[in-house]
Amino acid sequence: MPSSTLPKRLIKGNLPIKICLTCGRPFEYRKKWRACWDEVKYCGEKCQRNRPAATAAS
Ligand SMILES: [Zn+2]
Repeated sequence: MPSSTLPKRLIKGNLPIKICLTCGRPFEYRKKWRACWDEVKYCGEKCQRNRPAATAAS
């Protein structure tokens, strides 16, 4: 049996990916964003609320 070097990670479709501006993690396109995907900058509501606008700390 020849050991194939297939990537272990499963590729699920060709969903576009963006990087969340708050947590810096990549997130996938979701149906709920289909109308505003171009404007989506955060992976979720939490990050949208916690967006690093200005350094509010002191
Ligand atoms: Zn995030």
